[in-house]
Amino acid sequence: LTGGLEAAWNKLKGEEVLSKENIVEPMRDIRRALLEADVSLPVVRRFVQAVSDQAVGVGVIRGVKPDQQLVKIVHDELVKLMGGEVSELVFSKSGPTVILLAGLQGVGKTTVCAKLANYLKKQGKSCMLVAGDVYRPAAIDQLVILGEQVGVPVYTAGTEVKPSDIAKQGLQEARKNKVDVVIVDTAGRLQIDKAMMDELKEVKRAINPTEVLLVVDAMTGQEAAALVTTFNIEIGITGAILTKLDGDSRGGAALSVKEVSGKPIKLVGRGERMEDLEPFYPDRMAGRILGMGDVLSFVEKAQEVMRQEDAEDLQKKIMSAKFDFNDFLKQTRAVARMGSMTRVLGMIPGMGKVTPAQIREAEKSLKIMESMIEAMTPEEREKPELLAESPARRKRIAQDSGKTEQQVSQLVAQLFQMRVRMKNLMGVMEGGSIPALNN
Ligand code: GDP
Ligand code: MG
Repeated sequence: LTGGLEAAWNKLKGEEVLSKENIVEPMRDIRRALLEADVSLPVVRRFVQAVSDQAVGVGVIRGVKPDQQLVKIVHDELVKLMGGEVSELVFSKSGPTVILLAGLQGVGKTTVCAKLANYLKKQGKSCMLVAGDVYRPAAIDQLVILGEQVGVPVYTAGTEVKPSDIAKQGLQEARKNKVDVVIVDTAGRLQIDKAMMDELKEVKRAINPTEVLLVVDAMTGQEAAALVTTFNIEIGITGAILTKLDGDSRGGAALSVKEVSGKPIKLVGRGERMEDLEPFYPDRMAGRILGMGDVLSFVEKAQEVMRQEDAEDLQKKIMSAKFDFNDFLKQTRAVARMGSMTRVLGMIPGMGKVTPAQIREAEKSLKIMESMIEAMTPEEREKPELLAESPARRKRIAQDSGKTEQQVSQLVAQLFQMRVRMKNLMGVMEGGSIPALNN
């Protein structure tokens, strides 16, 4: 998503305010980015409308550029779209809390049983698992093994007893042992079918669960929303658990579920380990979605913040070692802008946490660089070699920009280093040596 959204922010560069006219193009980018991220179309439509309405009405905030403002609006709308607040699990006031897990085959139900028990145990609650998937003996074994792993008892009754009876017996056992939370595992099918739904309804009727949570694989993208809706209509659910968010899902599921089905995502699974289950925080997810994308290398980052044609142009320049001070400035500004974006969004995966101090530092050094580059003639900007060769030119720039000659030399050296680094990054290893500055 990031790449597409970056294009949107960039179209606002140089604008003074957000207006009906200048957000048309960015909104188109946002729409495309969301669709590419597998968000369902009706959700995208409503989202884009909501963002546009706000963007046009928003007043100018001192020191905030229109692109930053739009980022903020998009972020806030994303949070709203995903339900705003964290949806906590509900616990029964008297007797054991019963959590029934449902979902298609292979989505991670059995894993979630154990993860959830592990998670609740850490909150001081005693748990018990119930093996309600009777179609494969291996499914029972799997739950028993996972239960042992997290130190939680597992109630089993073999494969010959009806799931609803197993669930009932399990609940009785839990009452007897004064267990706080009973988590019931069920069988899934590859696709929604009547037998599965009927069985779930029967189990639900038998144990009257506090929570009925649909486990959904995040990789199913916008399908996830339809699944939650169907299960909700058929058996009535209280929320969803999104699993496999550690994979390369594009975020669409997380975005569509609440809006389409009306049911919140309560928890997310981010890996195969027992610790990899956490509450679903809409705001963190929004940050993650805005920051998603393959922010892998410096060049890729630069591509994201620059318009495509700029990037292609830049690539050619790098290939032919023509990367000059104009590009340098563009590049540095782009990175600085990413910095301020990070501040707005809180976090971009892969970039680590950027502290306000670091951002201030980056902005300060950008200002210094800008003033030196402004003191260069157009010819000097395009041919940095001129500066490498001539101490007199460097001296003039230092004087005109009020910086030291050393600072100018550093800047020139930095540009050549950047050429080499970028060439290397692009896999073009030949050429690109750093010239020594003539003194
Ligand atoms: P079930 O058929 O719904 O009970 O699914 P399982 O619990 O047996 O899980 C199916 C597979 O998905 C197993 O190999 C799990 O280890 C894996 N899995 C479950 N949750 C996650 C997750 O959050 N991330 C990743 N990467 N794998 C998961
Ligand atoms: Mg299972």
